[in-house]
Amino acid sequence: MPARPIVVHPDCRLRTPSAAVNEFGVELNNLVQDLVDTLNATATGIGISAPQIGALQQVLVMDLSPERDTPEIYINPQILSRSTPALVEESCLSVPGVVGNVIRDTELCVEAQDATGKRFKRDLSGMHAVCLQHEVDHLQGRLFIDRLSFFRRMLLRLKFRRA
Ligand code: ZN
Repeated sequence: MPARPIVVHPDCRLRTPSAAVNEFGVELNNLVQDLVDTLNATATGIGISAPQIGALQQVLVMDLSPERDTPEIYINPQILSRSTPALVEESCLSVPGVVGNVIRDTELCVEAQDATGKRFKRDLSGMHAVCLQHEVDHLQGRLFIDRLSFFRRMLLRLKFRRA
């Protein structure tokens, strides 16, 4: 499967909540593979969500392994519990050129389904937990820039208006 073009802010698809996945078949497998290929085609991405390639479905892929050969797939993810907030630096494939500090929980428990529909629960910490929250935000139509300070958001608004 080919890497797909990444949808970039302010495209309204990034602001639309994604639908839950009900069918675990060939189409879903193709979408997952496209997400993996698109993530691997980026220089620095560690996570990607389906709306970022224009598919408004609750699917996300993360790969924090050094070789980027261990993709983790989360379908219909729900964060069950979270704790230990910290200020972390984030960026986003859909908001090129912007880096900012946001508050994220660094410990969480997530429940999701795999590509066959099987349910699982997993404890995540550190960058794993941060990345998952960033991608779950995408599935809800939110971007990390929404979580920046008021002053920083005003500066960004000017920047995007000019661009
Ligand atoms: Zn993102």
